[in-house]
Amino acid sequence: HLELADIDLAFGTHSVVRKLSLRLEKGRIGCLLGPSGCGKTTVLRCIAGFERVAGGEVRLDGELVSSAALHTPPEQRRIGMVFQDYALFPHLTVAGNIAFGLRGMAAREREARVAELLAIVGLAEQGGKYPHEMSGGQQQRVALARALAPRPALLLLDEPFSNLDVELRERLSHEVRDIIKATGTTAVLVTHDQHEAFAVADDIGIMNEGRIQQWDTPYNLYHRPRNRFVADFIGQGV
Ligand code: ATP
Repeated sequence: HLELADIDLAFGTHSVVRKLSLRLEKGRIGCLLGPSGCGKTTVLRCIAGFERVAGGEVRLDGELVSSAALHTPPEQRRIGMVFQDYALFPHLTVAGNIAFGLRGMAAREREARVAELLAIVGLAEQGGKYPHEMSGGQQQRVALARALAPRPALLLLDEPFSNLDVELRERLSHEVRDIIKATGTTAVLVTHDQHEAFAVADDIGIMNEGRIQQWDTPYNLYHRPRNRFVADFIGQGV
């Protein structure tokens, strides 16, 4: 599970994350949803270890990985990431991309894991292709397979669908939820798109100005908004 307790972060004098707390249980998909510039990506970068927190704590499966005094580097956090621009390696095949995070594994085991992931994301026959030979939606599924291959303790997704057209975005958001659920991975998604959040997440945090206004299930956010900001934000998107 993932726990953020009162995390703070500022860029210079600009306070971007303010006493932000959340708890996400193992196997659940959480989402940070909020307007542009409210600090969603920065929170994700704190969880990944790309930013240091000025205060508070980040814990992964109970282990402290970030505080003002302690900072575990990103590569030691067992985190997988998917970004909006896929960031696939253009010179590697699809299978090569997925195998990238499995370099320590014996060859036979690695091949089996790559085949398993290709099947999970519905690209079983496509391992020999190169990224430029695939559609945007397929590339995003490869990026997801690559992130999941090393069995991360936590998967982070930053606006993973925003480069895709509306129809594909909708279809892929359901697919991605099914894939993450099939692997049992705990995940955090960042988006400004309410439909996407509701399609993918079990728990959603509505963010504004560096704070979570309400961390709750989609049902409760919709039916029991805690304050005016949440009610207005949810109201706008429907
Ligand atoms: P968007 O949906 O537009 O990506 P966001 O909610 O993810 O927005 P962040 O990217 O986390 O927001 O940015 C939060 C605030 O922090 C913004 O005001 C941004 O300008 C500022 N910010 C982000 N990164 C830096 C940085 N490296 N240096 C200085 N300011 C930054």
